[in-house]
Amino acid sequence: LLGVDGDTRPTIFAEMSALAAQTGALNLGQGFPDEDGPAEVLEAARQAISAGVNQYPPGRGLPVLLDAIAVHQRRFYGIELDPAREVLVTAGATEALAAALLALTDGPDDEVVVFEPFYDAYAAVIALSGARLVPVPLRWPDFQPDLDDLRAAVTDRTRVILVNDPHNPTGAVFTEETRAEIVRLAEQHGAVIVTDEVYEHLVFDAPHVPIATLPGAAERTLTISSGGKTFSTTGWKIGWITGPSALVEAVLVVKQFLTYVNGAPFQPAIAVGLGLPDSFFHRIATTLRDKRDLLIAGLTGAGMPVSVAGGSYFTVADAAPLGAEDAAAFCRELPHRAGVVGIPLTAFTTAGRRSEYAGLVRFAACKRTEVLEEAARRLAGYS
Ligand code: PMP
Ligand code: GLN
Repeated sequence: LLGVDGDTRPTIFAEMSALAAQTGALNLGQGFPDEDGPAEVLEAARQAISAGVNQYPPGRGLPVLLDAIAVHQRRFYGIELDPAREVLVTAGATEALAAALLALTDGPDDEVVVFEPFYDAYAAVIALSGARLVPVPLRWPDFQPDLDDLRAAVTDRTRVILVNDPHNPTGAVFTEETRAEIVRLAEQHGAVIVTDEVYEHLVFDAPHVPIATLPGAAERTLTISSGGKTFSTTGWKIGWITGPSALVEAVLVVKQFLTYVNGAPFQPAIAVGLGLPDSFFHRIATTLRDKRDLLIAGLTGAGMPVSVAGGSYFTVADAAPLGAEDAAAFCRELPHRAGVVGIPLTAFTTAGRRSEYAGLVRFAACKRTEVLEEAARRLAGYS
């Protein structure tokens, strides 16, 4: 029952990173940075270990991190949260997603509306919950939903509208109009909005707008984020979920039996990160935007049209001009033929829609400049 349409193979990320290791290809597949994040954050984890922060922390998370998350939400978005009741620390965004969907749905009569293509864990946790996944397509090249498709998907059976903004795998940032329509539909049909905003600080054109800040949204929205992307600590798996206390409480009920608690010494370290000055947050967005531009130049230079990402680690290219009719086969060949790894978009779609995304490949920009430059050279020589 797992994965997209019951796929039980290792995830596409595990498969493609193994292929990168085996062939020595440049890994623009799995989304993780190849450089360390801020020294203050790394040092804070070392200090916490030395200071003995090594036993089970409280189930909700260490107060220093709960407070830092609440302060962060006020500082960047004007969202007021009670750190003791409206914030929960999780094992990455992944556990927050899983616990939220398990808590909010109850079997096949409950539907979860998801924007397709979607991050692979979404289909897997919806399958684990037993609920039904109802996809709303995001189409090349701008990957914005058609609001009529969205209206058709949301009904009284919808328990959750699952949002991911900025979006993985497409890099799309939703418009104000789309966000407002999601909130309106959730209100009309009594659905909860679960929004995965792990790329909140990796947006390129305008400041991030959490859907929870829209009128009428806060009381029905659970917002998820993670320290992994913002602080380049994807291996620490410190995430969080915030929202109304009754919803957070329901997520905690599930979370306590999934992982119970999470990495104690990493929690004060992520708290330090959340308190870094504005210059840090500005720099990570502009640095990644420059990398995105470098990646786009490499992809277009190799003859592939791209969808210009508004945020996230990723950019999607159309590999059809290079002869890719089936991007999955193309991506399995690419490390051997060009020494570069990308991820086929079909890994993020349901079987029924696979043909719409057949030539599209996701490339990660969150890599060192030299790596992106070398990838551009290699792709230019693709034949
Ligand atoms: N959601 C999205 C959209 C992601 O891209 C990722 C991973 N990169 C996650 C969730 C998982 O985040 P974490 O590693 O914090 O569990
Ligand atoms: N979120 C990252 C990506 O989309 C890594 C995912 C993973 O390894 N499961 O590439």
